[in-house]
Amino acid sequence: MRMAAKLHPLRLRYADPHLLLVDEIKYNFAFVNHGAAMIHDRIHRARMLRGLSLEALANSLGDISKQALNKFEKGESKPNSTRILQLAKALNVKPEYFFRSDAIQLAPLEFRKLSKMSQARQASVREKMHDHLERYEALERCFDAETTVQVLPTQSLSVANAEEAEIAAQQLREQLEIGHDAIAHLTELLEDNGIKVALLDGPDDFDGACAATHDNQHVLIGLNRHRPGERVRFTAAHELGHWVMALPADMSEKDKEACCHRFAGAFLYPRARVLQDFGNHQRSRVFAAELLNAKRRYGVSMQVALRRLKDLELLSEAGYRNAYFEFNKHGWRTHEPEPLLPERPRRFESLIYRGLAEDLFTPSRAAEFLQCRLDELDPALDHLTLSA
Ligand SMILES: [Zn+2]
Repeated sequence: MRMAAKLHPLRLRYADPHLLLVDEIKYNFAFVNHGAAMIHDRIHRARMLRGLSLEALANSLGDISKQALNKFEKGESKPNSTRILQLAKALNVKPEYFFRSDAIQLAPLEFRKLSKMSQARQASVREKMHDHLERYEALERCFDAETTVQVLPTQSLSVANAEEAEIAAQQLREQLEIGHDAIAHLTELLEDNGIKVALLDGPDDFDGACAATHDNQHVLIGLNRHRPGERVRFTAAHELGHWVMALPADMSEKDKEACCHRFAGAFLYPRARVLQDFGNHQRSRVFAAELLNAKRRYGVSMQVALRRLKDLELLSEAGYRNAYFEFNKHGWRTHEPEPLLPERPRRFESLIYRGLAEDLFTPSRAAEFLQCRLDELDPALDHLTLSA
């Protein structure tokens, strides 16, 4: 109730969500102190974030040419305060976004299906992840060192082929002390091991990506929130594979992907349990009902369960082909029975509410972290009470 009492007057004061945090004194302070030197980069990044061309942004502002906008982005001219507010509104960011200190340097991203995504869409996803990681890192800095979780070391498992990826997944399970059990909440397991996870509104051809800072102290797995839960889990495990495995530098992209796929399958549905469920000798057919049960128990798609049987040589070639044919016939390759809901990462939000309760930052700052409006921030769950 304490927070609700605090939030209420603010809610009334700032009616326009786009002007939520605008405060002339604060604005001038930030602007004068930081100057245009970093603002130009932030304008460019905000435009990338929204996947807009210079022309599209100029059109939405209406009273500026794309050449003039380009000058802002190059730092050749400096937007005045009115223009900053206009840009914030058009780009759907808070004005503070343009003044955030730009401390995070990212290492290259790993994309699945990289080649299928256009450069502009890749830039947009990259910027979304960059932005999230930046906010996440700033949030963690509000807490003492004990709150920061040690990151699972990168490239600690040497893998030269798919068979070794299977073993690497098993080794990681041992290291994390999770035995052969089903992983009930994969994002929680990742976050407990210092790997940040975010669900993003990505383009249709985006599954997931892994981004890290150059010092490997912060790593984020971004996942497309519009995919079925089982696919999101598989992508998360695939990206985890990219993070923990040391693959030969000269390995082809295709082989690297195959290793990460194998790792993901083995991590989610370990060999010992596949043998337990399907028997330890090769057979010539498998029923869809068996695969569906594996899905229910291990949170993998039926396709992944089937692929496990092939990889572990528990199903003959003909048996695999027949099952694959059945998948096509039923349209299960795109829409499987009993899709799961995507897991929701919790840590980021939990830290925000904890910080609010401990008065480590203001509700305005919390809303900025969450990228929501101040009136959407509801730590006391008042909205829930009202709608119940
Ligand atoms: Zn990959």
